[in-house]
Amino acid sequence: MNVPQKVKQTLAKIKLNKRERIVVALSGGKDSAVMCYLLKKAGYNIEGFHIDLSMSEYSDRCLKAVRDLCEQLEIKLYIYDIKKEMGSGMCYLRSAIQTGQGKGLKNCAICGVIKKWIMNREARRLKASKIATGHNLDDEAQTFLINVLKGSPELSMNSGVMSKNAGDKKFIPRIKPLFYIPEEEVRKYSKKEKLPVIYDKCPCALDSYRIQVRKFMNTIPDKDKLNILKNAERVMSKIKNSGVSPRDTQGGHKNLRAGDSGEPNYCKNCGEPSRKEICKMCELMRLK
Ligand code: AMP
Ligand code: ZN
Repeated sequence: MNVPQKVKQTLAKIKLNKRERIVVALSGGKDSAVMCYLLKKAGYNIEGFHIDLSMSEYSDRCLKAVRDLCEQLEIKLYIYDIKKEMGSGMCYLRSAIQTGQGKGLKNCAICGVIKKWIMNREARRLKASKIATGHNLDDEAQTFLINVLKGSPELSMNSGVMSKNAGDKKFIPRIKPLFYIPEEEVRKYSKKEKLPVIYDKCPCALDSYRIQVRKFMNTIPDKDKLNILKNAERVMSKIKNSGVSPRDTQGGHKNLRAGDSGEPNYCKNCGEPSRKEICKMCELMRLK
C-alpha cells in the first residue's frame, strides 16, 4: 500500500465528515506537510494553523515553508505568534522555566505542553471540530516505548489515531492521519511530491533519552515498529478495562479523567480542560 492509501485506511477508522472543519497543525516539517497535502487531496475541509515559536532563523524558515504550502494548496493559514501573544519566544519561556523551579524538565516536554495548550484553545476559537497533527509511526512507537521504559505505559492511554479523551465540549479531539506510516515513507513521499518543507530537526530537540530510543528504533524494521503500536493498543485496552487512569500514577487526584464520564474538569486558572485542578500549562508558568 502506498502512503495515500494508508492514510485513507487510517482515516476510515475515525469516520470523518468531509464538511467538518479540521485545523491542521503545521510545523514546517515533512510530516505535517504530507498530512495536510493528503487531507486536501482527499477533499477534507481544512485550514492551516502554525505556531511561530520565535526561535531565531529556524522559526523564520519554518514559517516560510508553511506559508508556501498553504499558498500552493490554496488553504487559509492562521499564525499564532508566541512572542506577541505570550510576551516572549519559546527559548526564553523555556529557559525561564528551567532556571526557575522547573530545573531538569526536558526542552521538548515543555514545548509540547505549551503547543498543545495553544492548539486546543485556538482550534476552539476557530470553531474546529478536530485538530490534525503529523505524528507518524516512529514518533508514536518511540513515545510508547519511552513510557514503558519509564514504567508508565498508561501515559499512552489517550493516544491513538484519534485522542480518546474526546466528549468534552472544550476539548478539541486530535487526529493523527500518519499514525501507521513509518517516518522514512513520509520523507520519501514529501520529496516525491516536492513539498515545501524544512528537513532539519528542531535545534532545541536535545532530549538525550528520546534520541537514544530513536537510534534504537532506527535499527529495527518498520514492521516491528508497527508491532509495537499494535501491542500498545492491546495493552491500553487492558489497562483501560482495569480502571487505572493516567492520573492515578501521576500523584494527582484519583478522579475520573476529564471527558471520560461524569463531570469534565477545567483548570481553575485558565479554564482549559485539565486532569488536575491546575493544568500542565499553568503549572509550567508558575515554575518561572
Ligand atoms: P513535534 O512535537 O515537533 O514532533 O510535532 C508533532 C506535530 O505537532 C507536527 O507534525 C505538527 O502537526 C504539530 N506541530 C509541531 N510544531 C508545531 C508548530 N510550531 N505549529 C503548529 N503545529 C506544530
Ligand atoms: Zn490552566
